[in-house]
Amino acid sequence: MTNASVLKTTDDTVPADVLRGVIALAHHAGAKGWVPATSGNFSVRIDKSACAVTASGGDKGALTAAGVIRAGINGPAHPRASAEAPLHYLMYKLSPSIGAVAHVHAQPAVLASLVLAQDGRVRIEGLELLKALNGIKTHATHVDVPVFENDQDMDALAARVEARLKADELGWGFLLVGHGLYAWGADTQETLRHLDAFDYLFTLMLKMKGIPA
Ligand SMILES: [Zn+2]
Repeated sequence: MTNASVLKTTDDTVPADVLRGVIALAHHAGAKGWVPATSGNFSVRIDKSACAVTASGGDKGALTAAGVIRAGINGPAHPRASAEAPLHYLMYKLSPSIGAVAHVHAQPAVLASLVLAQDGRVRIEGLELLKALNGIKTHATHVDVPVFENDQDMDALAARVEARLKADELGWGFLLVGHGLYAWGADTQETLRHLDAFDYLFTLMLKMKGIPA
């Protein structure tokens, strides 16, 4: 993914390091099997009003620069943007500290949304790897990951996510029932770490309930 040929882009307004970050997120998710059948999307912030985000379709595990677009987080809609891109834009608007956003259809996340959700959240507790989430200093705590009903109306879904994350706390990610995980971080590296942490934590929580994951 550091191969210079991969970084050639038709859109020179996407900085090379930002482009590299989007591709790193996508290739990592592809290698883990989290984005089957052209699912998933990934973005990295460019500045306060724009991000680089994966275009609709394509195998994210084999993403190249041609599959990345520059999109304004306040619109107008980019013609090649994924239907799910507005949830990325929402996260950048919710917090200036968010520098990268990833969306995956990883099986442990989907399973967790279906079988571990109670009262609109999945509670993760008592596990050392919680400390991989930014700001968590001890295993002796719990993290509640918000769970939202899936929706094909992205504007309606974004409004529900925005209302809840503003009322509760921003956290590090949320689940869509039967669909997958959105996770974010200050930058590409932190977002990668959060993706790995959630995958491990959901897998363990499922196994503790006797559910193969
Ligand atoms: Zn999805």
